Amino acid sequence: MKTASIIAIGNELVEGILVDTNSKYISKKLLEYGYKTKIIKTLPDDLDLLVKEIKDSLETTNLVVTTGGLGPTEDDLTREAVSKALEKKLIFDENLSKKIIEKAKKFHSYVPKIVERQAMVIEGATVLENPVGTAPGMFLKTSKSTILILPGPPVEMIPIFEEALNLIEKENKIYQRRIKTINIPEAVLVEKYKDIIYKYKEVNVATMASHTSGVELRFTGEKALVDEIVNMLSEKLKDYIYAFDDKTIEEIVFEKLLSKNKTVSFAESCTGGLVSANFVNLSGVSKVFKGSIVAYSNEVKQRVLNVNSKTLEKFGAVSKECVEEMAKGVSKLLDTDYSVAVSGIAGPTGGTKEKPVGTVWICAYSRENDIFMTEGFYFKGNRQTIRNRSTLHAFDMLRR
Ligand code: ATP
Ligand code: MG
Repeated sequence: MKTASIIAIGNELVEGILVDTNSKYISKKLLEYGYKTKIIKTLPDDLDLLVKEIKDSLETTNLVVTTGGLGPTEDDLTREAVSKALEKKLIFDENLSKKIIEKAKKFHSYVPKIVERQAMVIEGATVLENPVGTAPGMFLKTSKSTILILPGPPVEMIPIFEEALNLIEKENKIYQRRIKTINIPEAVLVEKYKDIIYKYKEVNVATMASHTSGVELRFTGEKALVDEIVNMLSEKLKDYIYAFDDKTIEEIVFEKLLSKNKTVSFAESCTGGLVSANFVNLSGVSKVFKGSIVAYSNEVKQRVLNVNSKTLEKFGAVSKECVEEMAKGVSKLLDTDYSVAVSGIAGPTGGTKEKPVGTVWICAYSRENDIFMTEGFYFKGNRQTIRNRSTLHAFDMLRR
């Protein structure tokens, strides 16, 4: 596979003011085009440093992508740095200058002379027009490598990058499938199905465990081989798979409810609204989602969700009995077909011997048949991890 390096340039990036999101976008996309990113560097606007690192990257990888430092001001040094690294001249492009000035006039009536700096083109480079801002990108093949120079602002970078991808050889465009699972630990899954997962050494396998999305298997390689593995695993892992590729568990739940024309509500204690917040990330979800009650205190569990005081006394708020009453309560209050209730101890304080930190009860309720599906979990991790896992499993129970 071909290799790439990405260099994100800008003082703000190394001063902790700005997070580099460009590299994330670029590396992900490059993989689709058969380039594996070997290294991502974040550098300040420092000419000597830039020259050195650009030279180095051109030596070691097939494609070098830079973002940032293409503005008109003195501190934007990427053009100079690349021209030095390649030992190529910077040439003023009269036509390009006119275009840039014309464009700049649309933003401000007064266009300072320095804007012309953006019309300096590295000898031999293809200019990539910027449909949004003024600084154009550049694309240049060297004897050993290829360099792609992009502006920093993501809104400008993305369209120019997409355009450049057409220029980048697509011959080894690769194929990738992802399988997303839940309720099976990564080590168990891999151990049990290793003969299928690693069937072909030509297929690149990555496994990833996350507390927000479960265990994901990622296969990259030739389509026929990848599809064969995915088909075999789909059968073997059908009890654990909740989605493929880009689909999220929230989308799966949404689609399921939509197809059945059913509504849902949530009663959240330890998740404090996280389940609802994740669900409303999906646009159009109002077709199935009515609302939620964050019932954090026992008082609200009782007063709003109608949880019996005896239940709380006898079993506590983190119990099968309590989440079942919460689920039924919210379904009635908000008049929904389904509901899910979550109550647990997210820690770090509040754990006991019988109910340690990480104890979480979740109930999915169906009003139609008055059926409860209730499960108790013991999640490891810190407060945020426990709340994320609770949220993931709330959706999983609703999906099932
Ligand atoms: P401009 O003409 O806007 O100055 P530029 O190519 O010189 O473009 P920079 O000055 O490096 O770009 O960055 C401009 C802005 O773009 C930054 O303030 C930041 O908001 C955004 N930006 C730059 N680099 C990145 C990055 N790697 N990830 C996300 N945003 C970035
Ligand atoms: Mg700038």
